[in-house]
Amino acid sequence: MNKLLIVVDMQNDFITGSLANEEGQKIVTKIADFIRDFDGDVYVTRDTHTEDYMNTQEGKRLPVPHCIKGTEGWQIVPKIQAALDEKAKAGVVRYFDKNTFGCVELGEEVARKQYTDVEMVGVCTDICVISNALLIKACALETNVVIHKDLCAGVTPESHENALNAMAACQCDII
Ligand SMILES: [Zn+2]
Repeated sequence: MNKLLIVVDMQNDFITGSLANEEGQKIVTKIADFIRDFDGDVYVTRDTHTEDYMNTQEGKRLPVPHCIKGTEGWQIVPKIQAALDEKAKAGVVRYFDKNTFGCVELGEEVARKQYTDVEMVGVCTDICVISNALLIKACALETNVVIHKDLCAGVTPESHENALNAMAACQCDII
């Protein structure tokens, strides 16, 4: 089995910063523990914007600057970064900076490496987790996509549940 864990956007701005979310705060320690115990490669996505964010389509719809490259808000939350740094000594940890919800390069890399199983954790279930889960489904036909529902958080508990249902309908395994 060729397993991959994808940690989606566990950055300060989404947890304690400009788009702080209590739902996200509840999963930080659990994700850090899960990374330490995971047997396989780990890919990490980072939402990445520039100072020009407010002039982008995303900025017009969500007028809250966040994840500006190089700022503290853009960094991975410290507890999870520490787990990733430990993991990097023992295996593959790769970072994917993306300027929108889904990351095409990530989908292409999953297809190229022919991972049998991709497990996903992070935020937000209803925006970037679902975008990347369906992108991987589109790129890698024979890859199982597994969503850890207790290690993901949505904008609200309701939107989290809605996204899990949508991903289940698209043949992701929700565990
Ligand atoms: Zn963003």
